[in-house]
Amino acid sequence: VDTLVTSARGHGVGVASASQRGEPWPNDPYAAGTAVAERYRSLRALLAGELDADAVVATLKDSGLRGMGGAGFPTGQKWSLVAGAQPGTVKYAICNADESEPGTFKDRQILADQPHLVLEGLLLGMAVVGAEEGWVFIRHEYGPEEHVLREEIAALREAGVIGPDACGSGRRLELDVFVSPGGYILGEETALLECMEGHRGEPRNKPPFPGNYGLHGRPTLINSVETFADVPVILQRGADWWHEQGLGDSVGWKFFAVSGHVQHPGVYCVPMGTTVRELIDTAGGVLEGAAIEAVQPGGASSNFIGPDKLDLRLDFAALAEAGTMLGSGAVVVLAEGTDLLAASTNVLRFFRNESCGKCVPCRVGSTKAHTLLTGVLDSGAGLDEAGRARILQLEEAMRKTSICGLGQVALGPVVSVLGLAKGGAAAREQPKPGGAKDQPDR
Ligand code: NAD
Ligand code: SF4
Repeated sequence: VDTLVTSARGHGVGVASASQRGEPWPNDPYAAGTAVAERYRSLRALLAGELDADAVVATLKDSGLRGMGGAGFPTGQKWSLVAGAQPGTVKYAICNADESEPGTFKDRQILADQPHLVLEGLLLGMAVVGAEEGWVFIRHEYGPEEHVLREEIAALREAGVIGPDACGSGRRLELDVFVSPGGYILGEETALLECMEGHRGEPRNKPPFPGNYGLHGRPTLINSVETFADVPVILQRGADWWHEQGLGDSVGWKFFAVSGHVQHPGVYCVPMGTTVRELIDTAGGVLEGAAIEAVQPGGASSNFIGPDKLDLRLDFAALAEAGTMLGSGAVVVLAEGTDLLAASTNVLRFFRNESCGKCVPCRVGSTKAHTLLTGVLDSGAGLDEAGRARILQLEEAMRKTSICGLGQVALGPVVSVLGLAKGGAAAREQPKPGGAKDQPDR
């Protein structure tokens, strides 16, 4: 794996450019510094009629590309659904760059280093589904990346790639950036739509899905940053090439944000199907050479796995089979001695704070569970059988009755550590390398 990996090691997260890093990301078909006039090749071919919209969808379906925002919906299928929805009506396309899951920062790196891939993917999506207007909905803390995007959009307009006569095709393609007013829940696609319409940012009931009823009730194509960035790569290099990049049965490249107790936290682009252990080794291994207590392989929404699962492949199917998920591409590593109940309660606190409050089970259930668990942690006595049963009951109620993913998964990480934790107070007393600190309540 080492020879295939490119990392942001030593440059921190976010704005390290490819030239600063000195090595191109392995997926990018365009050499660093390629002018706008040389990029956007697939878009130009599509607008010139040399590439057919149906062929784009067929290639995406053949490639096996799935949504990289977390849920993994097949991308070709989504594009074909939106292309076929309400023929003749106005449609929109949106790139969801409201990356806010704790530990998740890989889209930030992609926006900083590969804005041309993200925007080409978005423009291709617009051209395929029949949308004239597209937006990047970006997290408000991502100021440097917003700047990069605005510069790239200005360059595209200057070069005539977008505008009233995009690439001389007679088609209108316009792009803009919408800065999120803030709030984790706005990354949920329907809360995002409500926000863009000027309403309170609360999720809608699904279905209908945005592909049928999206922005202003119009069919809207929504994909994440990494998903859109993968599209021009696949179109340039072919579905077969994409298949060959993955390991085992997995396909393509995958960006991961690795954090927690590792030597070199950062963003890594590795073949899909790399094992959890290989990725952690790529990030320099565990701090001070410690053993691993647990890993959250797919962001804060994903269930923790124990050290016996380190040879699991990082891909949708393998992680789902193991009772967790690929999720938002965030691998959080906890060294031996970390108090897992405290760490998972910390995750729950985030969800409790970020719940929009629209549904009672999520609003009340997350608060009740958090109160119970912080009481247990403060007492140092550990979770007794009655407390455990109460947590399981709350988790089931929230999972089955909350209308969006936040409430459905909020207690999952806590429940997952009930099977892994070696016991509250005893674990908390052990020294640990930079151990999980409980955050102050708010
Ligand atoms: P979802 O399964 O409801 O939908 C996934 C995508 O597929 C959506 O775009 C949806 O519109 C579409 N879709 C699903 N079924 C469809 C159908 N029948 N017809 C047409 N379109 C359909 O999942 P979700 O609630 O949108 O996303 C949850 C995921 O988001 C979680 O897995 C989590 O990991 C991830 N997440 C990511 C971040 C981040 O920062 N990247 C933050 C929070 C959560
Ligand atoms: Fe809001 Fe929670 Fe309901 Fe989602 S599950 S809509 S975050 S209250």
